[in-house]
Amino acid sequence: MAEYDAVFIGSGINSLAGGALLAKAGWNVCVLERNDYLGGAIKTSTDLTAPGFTHEVFSSWHPLFAGSAAYGELADDLHRNGLEYLNTELPTGSVFPDGSSAFLTTSLEGNVAELDRHAAGDGAAWERQFNEFMANADLSFGVLGVELWSGQGLSLGIKAYRRLGARGLLEFTGRGLATCRDWVTATFHSDQAHGLLAPWVLHTGLGPDNAVSGFMTQVIACAVQLGGMPVPRGGGVTLVDALATVIRSAGGELRTGAEVERILVSGSRATAVRLSSGETVTAGQAVIASVTPTQLYGRLLAEWEVPRAAWESARRFRYGRAGMQIHIAMDELPQWRGDERLPRTAIVHLTPGLDGVSRAVNEAERGLLPAEATIVAGQPCAVDPSRAPEGKWIVWIQLQDLPAGRVRGDAAGQIDVGDGTWTETLREAYADRIIVRLGQQITNLERSILKRVVLSPADIEALDCNLVGGDIYAGSCALDQNLLWRPFPRSPGHATAVGGLYLIGASTHPGPGLGAGSGYLVAKELTKPPLPKRLLARLPGRR
Ligand SMILES: Cc1cc2nc3c(=O)[nH]c(=O)nc-3n(C[C@H](O)[C@H](O)[C@H](O)COP(=O)(O)OP(=O)(O)OC[C@H]3O[C@@H](n4cnc5c(N)ncnc54)[C@H](O)[C@@H]3O)c2cc1C
Repeated sequence: MAEYDAVFIGSGINSLAGGALLAKAGWNVCVLERNDYLGGAIKTSTDLTAPGFTHEVFSSWHPLFAGSAAYGELADDLHRNGLEYLNTELPTGSVFPDGSSAFLTTSLEGNVAELDRHAAGDGAAWERQFNEFMANADLSFGVLGVELWSGQGLSLGIKAYRRLGARGLLEFTGRGLATCRDWVTATFHSDQAHGLLAPWVLHTGLGPDNAVSGFMTQVIACAVQLGGMPVPRGGGVTLVDALATVIRSAGGELRTGAEVERILVSGSRATAVRLSSGETVTAGQAVIASVTPTQLYGRLLAEWEVPRAAWESARRFRYGRAGMQIHIAMDELPQWRGDERLPRTAIVHLTPGLDGVSRAVNEAERGLLPAEATIVAGQPCAVDPSRAPEGKWIVWIQLQDLPAGRVRGDAAGQIDVGDGTWTETLREAYADRIIVRLGQQITNLERSILKRVVLSPADIEALDCNLVGGDIYAGSCALDQNLLWRPFPRSPGHATAVGGLYLIGASTHPGPGLGAGSGYLVAKELTKPPLPKRLLARLPGRR
């Protein structure tokens, strides 16, 4: 008898949500985590900067989880166990070097007025785009929510064909391939609208000149208007704790400090894992690995246990641009230059505009520190005031346009990058550049910093080994490694060539973010009723 029905490797959002769904379906679940905390890229810290400040070390914003199928099913359990979402009507804005700014709110009328403020007609263009998107929102969200390489994916395609016809479907798909640049410039006149929307494409791991980035920008813009920018009261740890409680309450177990070093295969089936301590943990139904394909095929499985082609594809799996986090505890509330809405906005992008976003991505892709990065200035206290003592403030800064691998130089020609490794000196020098720019918009920033903590790409990888090279999205999201092709065409979806072994996590479809999509899809696959029962359920008069 195996000790558990399912063993999860890693405790990121996909494992925790998948584990909670399996546990609720009666499975005996075990989650094994190598770190000394649960949650992976959800890590809330109260001792990062100064007493009374609660920081999200990595992920901070939960629109993807709050809009997810997993949350749809688990919400009651999670709320009972302490999770509470707070939200805002001012989810995002961009501020430009001349001090002007543009905002995306949770109101359609508000957004029409805001976009018209910059160029007459842009408001109507947004309304048209939004309505067009919503007419087929089930298809667009479906692409990002179903197992594409499966009967589910086929059903989605048939539904699209029936609704749109052959030519319509071809047009719909073709439009979906467009770049963000092509979409925003064809739709809106003002530079402010372009500069408001383009930075969001970075949050999907793409750049504004990549294929499908236009589709991703539309999805995000519509989702932000519909769902705002929710955060859990008190931090992401409350979501992690609530999911862990669901698993424990059903008799499951979660262990930290438990590094899996090998998946044990018997008769072409994964039956157990071996920890680095030498202990073996057995799984009767499934081993579900929330790791990178590189780790799965290069370390956890032996070469002879998987088809050569899958092994070689995994070796070619590419990691994308790196990220940096800068955490700031401020002794005062921020004094933003310009629009009075800026201090109330959850996420403000600092950018010269569409071309600036594109230039910084291009510099990073050529191995350079961007001269003018797109700065993501998150203000968690604008949504959840409990994160800092009264009268004080947190700025959660994210940079998503740093070189993958060694840094080859500085596009501004100012910073000596040494041998290109992320030393403390290089990390702090680059952070200084960012703080100086942000200080031009938040005029009291520099004088009121109580403490700043910077995480370089190397620091990020050290905290979560799935974020290889500091790639915060655990694998390049370029089209050839996205959607149907994630993690790679030889092994699309989540089942692997080894029976009972599934690969989930940000490196797999539907990709990075807190949407818990891969954990959800695998849990549903494992608990779906047998085929005869499903067919019977489709008979007329049956539900
Ligand atoms: C800095 C940063 C900011 C982000 N901001 C946001 C945001 O605001 N909103 C959003 O939606 N998304 C955000 N993301 C993306 C999102 O957080 C991640 O895509 C998501 O959390 C990844 O979840 P996951 O299930 O893939 O696993 P991860 O969270 O990556 O966790 C994987 C876990 O597996 C463990 N592990 C790996 N190998 C082993 C092994 N052999 N044995 C045992 N344990 C192992 C690791 O230690 C890790 O804890 C951000 C990501 C980063 C890094």
